[in-house]
Amino acid sequence: PVRVRFAPSPTGSLHIGGVRTALFNWLCARHYGGQFILRIEDTDEKRFVPGAADDISISLRWVGIDWDEGPDVGGPYGPYVQSERFELGIYRPFIDQLLEAGLAYMSFTTEEELAQMRAAAEAAGIKAFRFRGPERDWPLERQRELAASGKPYTVRLKAPLEGETRFRDLVRGGDEIVVQNDQLQDIVLIKSTGMPVYHFAHLVDDHLMKITHVMRGEEWVPSTPYHVLLYDYFGWQRPIFAHLPAILRHDGKGKLSKRKDDVAAQRFRERGYLPETMLNYLALQGWSYDGVTEIMSRDELIARFTLDRIQPSPARWNPEKLRDMNGIYIRKRTAAEVAELVLPFMQRAGLIGDPASDAERDYLLRLIPLIHERLEELQEAPDLLLFFYRDVTPGETYNPADLIPKKHDAAQTIAMLRAAHEALGRQEDWTPPALEATLRGLCEQLAVKPGPLFGAIRIAITGRSVAPPLFDTLAGVGRERSLARIAAAIA
Ligand code: GLU
Repeated sequence: PVRVRFAPSPTGSLHIGGVRTALFNWLCARHYGGQFILRIEDTDEKRFVPGAADDISISLRWVGIDWDEGPDVGGPYGPYVQSERFELGIYRPFIDQLLEAGLAYMSFTTEEELAQMRAAAEAAGIKAFRFRGPERDWPLERQRELAASGKPYTVRLKAPLEGETRFRDLVRGGDEIVVQNDQLQDIVLIKSTGMPVYHFAHLVDDHLMKITHVMRGEEWVPSTPYHVLLYDYFGWQRPIFAHLPAILRHDGKGKLSKRKDDVAAQRFRERGYLPETMLNYLALQGWSYDGVTEIMSRDELIARFTLDRIQPSPARWNPEKLRDMNGIYIRKRTAAEVAELVLPFMQRAGLIGDPASDAERDYLLRLIPLIHERLEELQEAPDLLLFFYRDVTPGETYNPADLIPKKHDAAQTIAMLRAAHEALGRQEDWTPPALEATLRGLCEQLAVKPGPLFGAIRIAITGRSVAPPLFDTLAGVGRERSLARIAAAIA
């Protein structure tokens, strides 16, 4: 059975690229009927950020990714947090095994000595400094004696000096990637604190957790030769590797970056992206069904997600396309659902005081159909609906000159609006069809085109030239407020 995992390091808020990696693993497990495991890789104390692991779980759950085994849900191969596994001594026998087989060694070179060696190598014009400790040739006894004397040490991989290391990657057509071993170095497996580094810990865990496919970001390709060496040293079966393409910025210049782009998964939630949008859009970042179909539900993605369709070429992040897609998914929701989704945004914007109030909820539900078609990020709703909640005042909300339609002058405009104010003042039935009949009748009576008249009224009521359909807007704003706003415009 397929067993895949997402193994984030809790070093900050979850990056959208991380969600993509998690999603591909999850889709793979769901498509092939296997298990998806969440494992927290927190052995790097220096980069550890408190709360980051929670952010990861929250973000994954938000887009609808669930896990069969993981820190909170448990499972047969737990614990699923590496620091807890370290406390339990899970990694120790495996490092002993390598030391005893002479495939790893204790290295007593200090950080300062390493820095000096690097500097010396640089001064000598050596481009890539590849560390091989002198202790690699010592008998284990000698290493152990020095360690016993209290001298701090790391444990390093004894990488072969000759020959080559080969592995296959599913995404690159299963082609073999070949690395000359003299290009490798003796990487650290265990730090002087005794804590295993990623390269060692993830591999032992993947083995113990019976992971069949390692699907992760392409940035791990250069590390993979070390991983396959370790699998071979242990005599363990290698998993299938599938390195997912990088996600480039829209202009193709570099990867999506924390500095330049909105990349934290939670930011998309804050801006009002729907989970189904994120799931769909992220699935297309490095995978495609047939190169054409884009809108796919969760079930369709699960049914269609096969590993052979993961693309080797980099993906392009297109914020506009993501927005469009969110609009599509917002339109698939009912007005009642959108009202519910928009409510917290209205509250945060200070437009709705009590989200539990029936009157507030009913009013919002009535307004949603007016913006439903145009809404692309839920966070835009408060602004689109602002004039239903706040006064519209000439000179403040809008420039009075904006009332005057093209090819008209101030006097004509005022006359038009005055006539509209009179006609509407006599109007009792404040429903959109009745309002439409009255205002169209007025156009005929005044012999003006609807465009200029409706445009001037729209500005007076909303303060904007672009707003929802006029008659619905008048109905939504209500009789009294509408009349007061037109009166203010001609005052
Ligand atoms: N902890 C690693 C990371 O943060 C996991 C890489 C892997 O999936 O092997 O990306």
